[in-house]
Amino acid sequence: MGLEIESLTLLVESLRRLDGGFAELADFSPEIDLERMREVLEEVAFRMRDNFPYHHPLYAGQMLKPPHPIARLAYCLALWINPNNHALDGGRASSAMEKEAVAELAKLFGWQRHLGHLTSGGTMANLEALWVSGRLAPGKKVVASEQAHYTHRRISEVLRLDFEAIPVDARAKMDLRFLEKLLQSGEVGTVVATVGTTASGSIDPLPQIFQLKQKYGFRLHVDAAYGGYFTLAENLTSEARAAFDTLDKVDSIVVDPHKHGLQPYGCGSVLFRDPSVGAIYKHESPYTYFTSKELHLGEISLECSRPGASAVALWATQKLLPLKPSGEFARALSSCRKAALDLHNRLENDNRFLTLFPPELDIVIWAVRAQDLSEISRLSRRFFNAAAQENLHLALVELPLQLVEPYWKEVSLNRKYVTCLRSCLMKPEHQTWIDEIWSILDRIN
Ligand SMILES: *Cc1c(COP(=O)(O)O)cnc(C)c1O
Repeated sequence: MGLEIESLTLLVESLRRLDGGFAELADFSPEIDLERMREVLEEVAFRMRDNFPYHHPLYAGQMLKPPHPIARLAYCLALWINPNNHALDGGRASSAMEKEAVAELAKLFGWQRHLGHLTSGGTMANLEALWVSGRLAPGKKVVASEQAHYTHRRISEVLRLDFEAIPVDARAKMDLRFLEKLLQSGEVGTVVATVGTTASGSIDPLPQIFQLKQKYGFRLHVDAAYGGYFTLAENLTSEARAAFDTLDKVDSIVVDPHKHGLQPYGCGSVLFRDPSVGAIYKHESPYTYFTSKELHLGEISLECSRPGASAVALWATQKLLPLKPSGEFARALSSCRKAALDLHNRLENDNRFLTLFPPELDIVIWAVRAQDLSEISRLSRRFFNAAAQENLHLALVELPLQLVEPYWKEVSLNRKYVTCLRSCLMKPEHQTWIDEIWSILDRIN
């Protein structure tokens, strides 16, 4: 059985316990038509078969990770109340749980104090961080590397802030020489450093960027939507470790619990080191906050209605799997990285494939060897389809020629971009499935 179903009995048990909290109310049960619902659900189940098997270890493609069963169950349980974390009136318990869960995230990066909350995802979280940045440095530029998530350019457009992309080095990290040149112009208000790029998992040189911050003065925002949790991994390079150890000094951080934090979609987060930025959000609302006294989540979020269920799911997951070094959650991240290193080594030692730099987190990029970039792209696409035929699901990524040039000396560079294969090995089970994954890759070629 691929889809875990056994834990569902816990949902019924816990729902009874929840229901007990409302026992004093006059009897009321909404009418439902089980027979018609059954028919519809059967159809839904059939329609949902039209998906890649994201939950299975042979899905080794895009940045997708199944939520933990505890997250699914806690989310569902909360749905029977359907709290809205916009204001305390909408969800007392889930708002308190959000604050606790987000404080744990802040502590993960060494922050004992913070201002922060959950968002619908990394895009909204980055939007808020850049909005605050723009307010504090009006008229100044936002800069991020060419390998930063494309959302930063678009968000800057929405906020009407100038945006400039900084070239990357051979490992897809922000090139500091270009950054410093821009800083000398005095036009930069915010530097977005990516800790774990979406394409290759590369980590911008954060300690050096922080030194530049001390010299030139700018707001330093870190987009760690995908990579943030890896601060707990035990097998990082010393260079990556140094970047994570600088996170306590940056101005804001985005991390997505729905990327590596075992949560269902709809769960990002933004954290600010200085709680006084809360003043920027301040607004008067005639509709809400009748019973609340302290500053609460609705007052420090651009989004109004937000799912309390997301907070409940995250809280429950962190209760079961605390964000502790050497804990079960931390070990799972180390396994993902181990799987990526293992796959990279096998590919690197096999003449049929071309590789780039070793993975910094758990994303592996490679291509099928050929004489020029057009042929490499064609064969890599073909390989991607052939793997899918064998139930091994990979992803494709378009890379600029500058990224492959230093590694592929014998290849004729006849195009500006090349299509490569990409695997996000985000499930800890990937570590034990690497032999199976490799045997499929081996027989395709
Ligand atoms: C995924 C990702 C985003 C966008 O987050 P969503 O949750 O998809 O909105 C932004 N930045 C990075 C580095 C990401 O990996």
